[in-house]
Amino acid sequence: MKITRRQFLKLTGVTAFATIGIFKLEAIQAKAEELRLRIRYAKQTTTICPYCAVGCGEIVSVSNGKVINIEGDPDHPINEGSLCSKGSALYQVANNDLRLTKVKYRAPGSAYWEEKSWNWAIDRISSRIKETRDAALSDGRKVNRIDSLAAIGGAALDNEECYLYSKFMRALGVVYIEHQARI
Ligand code: SF4
Repeated sequence: MKITRRQFLKLTGVTAFATIGIFKLEAIQAKAEELRLRIRYAKQTTTICPYCAVGCGEIVSVSNGKVINIEGDPDHPINEGSLCSKGSALYQVANNDLRLTKVKYRAPGSAYWEEKSWNWAIDRISSRIKETRDAALSDGRKVNRIDSLAAIGGAALDNEECYLYSKFMRALGVVYIEHQARI
């Protein structure tokens, strides 16, 4: 049988695509098997993604006290196992050498960050809020609103948390309440 140049190219093209497809499928299967073996003896627990108020469910696998995998929870009614790119990368929150776990403070005018305790940070923040609150003036008269403080809410807050947060800020007299996603 005589094969034309066009037929030859078609035939080799289809064969090459089919071979690549098989290799790709095998690589995906190998990866899935590797993951299955990795988490086989791990303790699994469920959690909620902290990144936004969609609140997708995730399964966390822990071995020897270390998070070794996080993936979407197929039984969760909101996401049914799927995750966005942020939620899929949640593993990096648990395992990340760059993550800050201690309070860092840079004093006004200083070029250096100092390590402080959480109690120090809470005391410092509350005393600064009180000073600012007490100094709230308008045309030289004391007022109950503060223009010199602003509040930023997070995308992970749910309705109830947003309600409490805004009530708390309004009670302090804060006028400028913003949302992190708009900045
Ligand atoms: S950040 Fe993504 S995975 Fe996380 S709750 Fe929101 S939509 Fe779901």
